[in-house]
Amino acid sequence: MYNSADDNASGSSANLAIAERMMTGPRPKRSVIFIWDSGEERGLWGTRYFVHRPPVPLEKIVAHVNIDMIGASRAPGSPDVEAAGATGPNEVYLIGPGVLSAQTDALLERTNREYLNLRFNRDHDRADSEFFYPRTDAGPFLERGILTIGFTTGIHARYHAPSDEARHLDAKKMEAIARTVFMVVWMLADSTERPRIDRSIPPTVLRYQ
Ligand SMILES: [Zn+2]
Repeated sequence: MYNSADDNASGSSANLAIAERMMTGPRPKRSVIFIWDSGEERGLWGTRYFVHRPPVPLEKIVAHVNIDMIGASRAPGSPDVEAAGATGPNEVYLIGPGVLSAQTDALLERTNREYLNLRFNRDHDRADSEFFYPRTDAGPFLERGILTIGFTTGIHARYHAPSDEARHLDAKKMEAIARTVFMVVWMLADSTERPRIDRSIPPTVLRYQ
């Protein structure tokens, strides 16, 4: 039995909580599409289908925000305390804005600082990181020139194993990340200036015209 608690029930449930909050709170200027895609492990099938048959014109999409595995924590007493690839108690990998957009990077840093002030780990916010491209659901969007922003707490020993169970997740940390992503999405959707890519997309990214 593969319950996939961290990969990726943690991201899917955060998406649900954010959608719920977005529905009940003040509406930002821009619309927000919430996606739960399948087939990611098989080859980003769901996301590839979305950008191939988008419900809105792709040029109208200002950014793609990806939440993939946010339940691990290299905290004392946690099952991930030895997991070199997992982030610390109040830390999350932020992937994309450092490579793609000084404008959006500044907005995210300010939003985070003025809110829960998580530590944004940038170890994978590099053009040569497979977590930047092409390993995650951000890939198909980036290939079409859309700004991508990814949040994850990283890989651990239970990755793609039957042991990926909910009892091992750090629920408090997951909540803090979900709240931060909510705030980030809200700020991007409501910003007067359109979020944009203002740095060059690395040549390693396949491009679709
Ligand atoms: Zn996976």
